[in-house]
Amino acid sequence: MSKNNKNNKENKKEKQTRLWALLISLIILLVALIGLSVYLMQNKEKEDENTLAYTDLIKEISAGNIEKIEMQTGSTTVKVKVRNEEEEKTAIVPNTESFITLVQSKVEEGNEIELIQKPRSFISQIPSFIISFLPTAIMLALFIMLFKMQGLGEKGKVYDETERKTKITFDDVAGLDEEKEEMKEIVDFLKKPEKYTKMGARVPKGVLLYGKPGTGKTLIAKAIAGEADVPFISMSGSEFIEMFAGLGASRVRKLFEKARKLAPCIVFIDEIDAIGSRRTSNSGAETENNQTLNQLLVEMDGFGSEETIIVLAATNRPEMLDKALLRPGRFDRRITIPTPDLKGRLEILKIHSKDKRLAEDVNLESIAEDTAGFTGAELENILNEAAIVATKNKHEDIENEDIEEAVKKVTVGLEKRERKYSEKDKRLTAYHEAGHAVVSRYLPTQTNVKEISIIPRGVAGGYTMYKSDEDKYYISKTEMEEKLVALLGGRAAEKLVLNDISTGASNDIEVATKIARDMVTKYGMSDKLGPIDFQGKEPYEMQMFGEDIGDKIGLEVKELINTAYNRAISLLQEHRDKLDAIAEELLKHEKINEEKFEEFFKE
Ligand code: ADP
Ligand code: MG
Ligand code: ZN
Repeated sequence: MSKNNKNNKENKKEKQTRLWALLISLIILLVALIGLSVYLMQNKEKEDENTLAYTDLIKEISAGNIEKIEMQTGSTTVKVKVRNEEEEKTAIVPNTESFITLVQSKVEEGNEIELIQKPRSFISQIPSFIISFLPTAIMLALFIMLFKMQGLGEKGKVYDETERKTKITFDDVAGLDEEKEEMKEIVDFLKKPEKYTKMGARVPKGVLLYGKPGTGKTLIAKAIAGEADVPFISMSGSEFIEMFAGLGASRVRKLFEKARKLAPCIVFIDEIDAIGSRRTSNSGAETENNQTLNQLLVEMDGFGSEETIIVLAATNRPEMLDKALLRPGRFDRRITIPTPDLKGRLEILKIHSKDKRLAEDVNLESIAEDTAGFTGAELENILNEAAIVATKNKHEDIENEDIEEAVKKVTVGLEKRERKYSEKDKRLTAYHEAGHAVVSRYLPTQTNVKEISIIPRGVAGGYTMYKSDEDKYYISKTEMEEKLVALLGGRAAEKLVLNDISTGASNDIEVATKIARDMVTKYGMSDKLGPIDFQGKEPYEMQMFGEDIGDKIGLEVKELINTAYNRAISLLQEHRDKLDAIAEELLKHEKINEEKFEEFFKE
């Protein structure tokens, strides 16, 4: 209620300002028009008395009545002094050159005419009609400016409501098969909303696309609109940052006003973190952001199932988002857009090489293999670069060497921006992940490996995914101990194979340490210390367990970790062949699924 009130008030105020601006503009225009007509009338009178027709001028010259003629280069208007007349007159000569010859011949004939030819002055370069219109032009410009200003809220460049319909479809989006499946639902809803509302289903309102820049979030949003054949209205959060106070909120309101008119439609908010970041202090830009964010929340809560509007938003910093955005009825669906895997990269390369002339020797498969960690935008960029390189090399078509050069160009360029895989990193990651997987394969309580990958994801260089546990109420001590072994399998493999350890295991170590500490201090699993809860105790409470209780706990945690680490090392030593084989496979194909993984253990 209060929110609506505020909306109305703001609307009224805005309407009033607009009316005033319009009124002032009209008055200015009126004054300008009156001024112009008065000026024109005066000029006309003057002209009537003081001008001489060209034919009359010639007659007067022949009759010897002209005393003086003043000309300016480039001007067809001449000033003439008629004998025995006070005022100078003006005349227009159609052709100045022949006029001058004419006058000169008259002078040679003995006619007494003073011919003055002046260089062109600045003012005379400007055609006279422009000068007479100048005041009006200035008025008009002012008028237009005023008009624009009062319409700013409506037609600012801020949200380009881009193509009303896009022609992009899912065929233009390579890879991302699972994600596309999820999005087909949204498309179906946009096409046939009744189908869902009839069932009483709560329709999706907001979908958040998470993913690194260049992974195709904007492309996907457009493709959804294209597939559903609905308008696509877009706006970018970053555009709000440099905006005047209060405008952000009003922009958001306008955006949704438009969306309501065009519904069913897609509203796309790019870089939503710029407006939707956590509401913190109450100062400056943040307050402005808050207003914008609040308006967005109001709008999203405001439209109901009768309006088929789906708000898609993109961000690469999900952790920055205000929690309020993620509540049900707002952006309650989230789709993660990953960097493409080998197959995805190949498909992206195929799509973007369609309109390019590739030579026979180009092997897109091997390019896909060489570009682990690249986004769709980077791959597209590589093909564009390759075309440029090929042109520079004067090749008929894009050859493999052109693409290789382009890859290097783009990679070197990228290395500065973010961490890219070096061969050494890749090998380390492959052994690290293979270490986790092999170790857990030989631990009876650990769940099966579902997928191993060395494609960087987020901050991690790679990952080993396990099949999820069935819901369990209790976890045994053995299970926890073995979990520690699996967690430390990555570090153990690095040590064993490369005889060096890396920072890549930091998260594993963090998790393992927490588990070990919980085992000792929370679950009473240490034989030496017994079943006592040591957690969350004040120092004086701890003292009753003895002065050195802290040291004892520390030693027990250390013991658990060391035991687990040594077990991981010996398991890997024992099954070194598997470790090597799996790491090799990862280096070649980046990903191993469950079946493939199990094949290594048959015999
Ligand atoms: P984001 O919005 O996530 O930053 P974009 O959608 O702007 O990324 O992607 C930039 C470009 O990269 C796209 O226009 C497209 O040419 C290319 N691209 C990215 N991902 C894909 C993909 N999955 N399939 C095809 N092209 C892609
Ligand atoms: Mg984008
Ligand atoms: Zn790890």
